[in-house]
Amino acid sequence: MIEDSLAKKARKQLYKAAREIKLDSDLLKILEHPMRVLRVSVPIKLDNGKTKVFTGFRCQYNNSKGPTKGGVRYHPDVTEEEMVALAAWMTWKCALLDLPYGGAKGGVICDPKKLSESELERMTRRYTSEIMPILGPHIDIPAPDVYTTSRTMAWIMDTFSMMKGYTEPSIVTGKPEILGGSKGRKEATGKGVAIITREFFKAQKKSLKGTRIAIQGFGNVGGHAAHFLSQMGAKIVAVSDVSGALIRQDGLDVPGLIECVEKHACVIKHPGKQIDREEVLYQDVDILIPAALENQIHQKNAHKIKAKLIVEGANGPTTPEADEILEKNKISVIPDILANAGGVVVSHLEWVQALSGLFWEEDQVNAELERKMVKSFAEVWKRNKTKNITLRCAAYIVAIERIAEVYRYRGLFP
Ligand code: NAD
Repeated sequence: MIEDSLAKKARKQLYKAAREIKLDSDLLKILEHPMRVLRVSVPIKLDNGKTKVFTGFRCQYNNSKGPTKGGVRYHPDVTEEEMVALAAWMTWKCALLDLPYGGAKGGVICDPKKLSESELERMTRRYTSEIMPILGPHIDIPAPDVYTTSRTMAWIMDTFSMMKGYTEPSIVTGKPEILGGSKGRKEATGKGVAIITREFFKAQKKSLKGTRIAIQGFGNVGGHAAHFLSQMGAKIVAVSDVSGALIRQDGLDVPGLIECVEKHACVIKHPGKQIDREEVLYQDVDILIPAALENQIHQKNAHKIKAKLIVEGANGPTTPEADEILEKNKISVIPDILANAGGVVVSHLEWVQALSGLFWEEDQVNAELERKMVKSFAEVWKRNKTKNITLRCAAYIVAIERIAEVYRYRGLFP
């Protein structure tokens, strides 16, 4: 059987939850389509004087709850379908966390590792100017995603501001603090992953202390998740990134690994036993955290997973076909729209701070992140307990019921 495209997979997850709650079929017709997808050409001068034309996208999936929000990704595998799926997941995530946002996603098809800093800057600025007609602090607010950083956000903010003629810090989140970025944003997604994992254990009256964890992807999400989970007493026994994978049965040195990635941009320069990159998924651990890219756990490898819990740090790492295998094998999956929502929670706080011009201390930001994550986990857990469904389905139900209520009040224009 050939697995479906990413957008089709995202729709399958929506249909499952819609069936469960007998969602109004007219509303489902609206929710299964993206509101808007913009495809742009991004021509730039390379350092060697030649011109190269990249292709970029911005998908705004649904804005019924507020301006759309979502990351910008630079990757060779970016496609329009991928943007639609990721924007749909952002929509459900923002609704689940009860943020006043809809969902969006953008990206440029490129290999950022093959571009110089100045080429990346020109590409970012031209991409921003091409999607400018649909950007705005009350329209659509980008953030970092795979291979984009606070540096990228600073260029987007500057380009938008220069074109408008005034400085507009609330146009992006995940920007440097000096430009109005929030304290605590950089680590928020990984911290959220740790909080949700801790809540899952707490709900079963178990402790995280001594649990063994494998993490695929050691970037912003994977690295910070490792840091906070090891602080909570868990052992990180295996990690991977695009360069390879490392394992140590009695626990890896997480601060050392983070330092190594900061210095060499890869985990394998750190001392330790190396294994095949994919093997990180199949280790005999309690928890597996996929924190790299989508489609990593699929119908051909799901049966090899030994962990009893998967916490989705990445967006869409598990295909619907794999979900069915994992469910049969009694492996719990904390879905992406809950597990990795810490980033957008603090992005929302960053937007609020930039709009008001009043900035918060880190402990205030962290307290709000903790409150939101714990509350959303409890809502999903309660849904999961009162119906015999997966945590993913429960999370979708909470999100979709919220959006359905918005449509009940707003009606359908015109
Ligand atoms: P990042 O660029 O900081 O890190 C990505 C990591 O994945 C890197 O370590 C990279 O080497 C690794 N990787 C790439 N391909 C791999 C492979 N085939 N096997 C193993 N490792 C591989 O990106 P990030 O911001 O940490 O995002 C990771 C995931 O989390 C993405 O799915 C993203 O959409 C999602 N996410 C990110 C945020 C955020 O705030 N950054 C928020 C929510 C969700």
